[in-house]
Amino acid sequence: MSRNDGKELKMKLFTNKNNGWENLSDDELKDIFQYADEYMYYLNNSKTEKEIVHNSKEILLKNGFVDISEIDELKAGDKVFYVNRGRCIYAAVIGTDDLEDGFKIVAAHCDSPRIDLKQNPLYEDNGLAMLKTHYYGGIKKYQWTNIPLSIHGTVVKPDGEKINICVGENEDDPIFTISDLLPHLAQEQMERKLKDGVQGEELNVLAGSIPYDSDEVSERVKLNILQLLNERYGIKEIDFMSSEIELVPAFKAKSMGFDYSMIAGYGQDDKVCCYAALRAILDVETPKKTAICVITDKEEVGFNGVTGMYTRIFDTFVLELLEKTGNTSPISLDKAFSNTRALSADVDAAYNPNYASAFEKNNTAYLNKGMTVVKYTGSKGKSGASEAPAEFVAELRKIFDDANAKYQSCELGKVDKGGGGTIALTLANRGMDVLDVGVPVMGMHSPYEITSKFDVFQAYKGYRAFLK
Ligand code: MN
Ligand code: MN
Repeated sequence: MSRNDGKELKMKLFTNKNNGWENLSDDELKDIFQYADEYMYYLNNSKTEKEIVHNSKEILLKNGFVDISEIDELKAGDKVFYVNRGRCIYAAVIGTDDLEDGFKIVAAHCDSPRIDLKQNPLYEDNGLAMLKTHYYGGIKKYQWTNIPLSIHGTVVKPDGEKINICVGENEDDPIFTISDLLPHLAQEQMERKLKDGVQGEELNVLAGSIPYDSDEVSERVKLNILQLLNERYGIKEIDFMSSEIELVPAFKAKSMGFDYSMIAGYGQDDKVCCYAALRAILDVETPKKTAICVITDKEEVGFNGVTGMYTRIFDTFVLELLEKTGNTSPISLDKAFSNTRALSADVDAAYNPNYASAFEKNNTAYLNKGMTVVKYTGSKGKSGASEAPAEFVAELRKIFDDANAKYQSCELGKVDKGGGGTIALTLANRGMDVLDVGVPVMGMHSPYEITSKFDVFQAYKGYRAFLK
């Protein structure tokens, strides 16, 4: 055998793990960068789950989708959506097949790790107004100190009035921060384990420092802040009780690297997949199988609750699709689910050269090598795993290959190093075939997560091919 034969044989037998940027046409490059710009725009305007749902609904409306409550009978080609409590959105394009024969679902989540205000947040400490917080999702707490934070949320008053608050996103807005201890006095703190370096009750936000102009009362700085909030929003301290207020990084998503190849931005887990799933369903005209795009809440805290992916509200939406297409048998829903194929559209950990030993190089995701295909999640002995059947993985490989959407097979880090789960099991438990397909992210759950523009675009191409 000549050397040349070896080259060809290798090409034939080895898995292609090339860098995705190699051999791209000018048109492909243009599409990738344009899509990335549009995605960053969405990201910068959608930092919380409610903002995602609001902006996604606007995009759906502009593209011919209507609220499902406005239609009594559905037929192939109809496009509908349902908003669950402003925190989830389910969109569907009705297919030509009977709905009992199953759906194609792409499901992503709109909640991201963040810092929530507690329900009694405001206090004064030595002339400084402070806010108590309770972090949401799995964060390394020290990463959230000394960075600019913006405040987003809603206060609901007993009469039903809703007040939206968003401070810190505009150029001339003030921002907020959690101040860490200076190194000079941190000798004791530096002896702590990293996981306790900053503790939950130390994540208090600095929120003001001017006292109310009177020497008759105590807690004058707190009073001054409450007066400001009362003037601006008409709220009192007790109103925080019925509020949802989140602190998120105030900085904008940006292109990263001299070559502009990457995106750094907050909340790409899992807004990168929300956007790809949304863009994908916009391209679906009249599919064979009814196509569904799910953007769900509460993934980061275990999928539970009325807006998590375990919610029966999703089943109710599907039942409505069935009913409005004439499928009224009591087992229609179970039949449809058992014939359904779904993608759990969520991110996976990308190899990080700074921490190479956390990754098993043969099975980790890398930036620029395409969508992540994760056959199983879970930790240790695949505990808590949702594992896709090999048959379904094979079917997906065909779809992605035909669409020229590049993918890589991976799992999250080394065995026994940790692990994680996605909403895949909530769908699989309903009787669907489910595979995790997402985007590699470096620095996941940090305030500034990193993706590759190449990979971000592959997810859109892959989801689109699957739904069509
Ligand atoms: Mn996720
Ligand atoms: Mn996550």
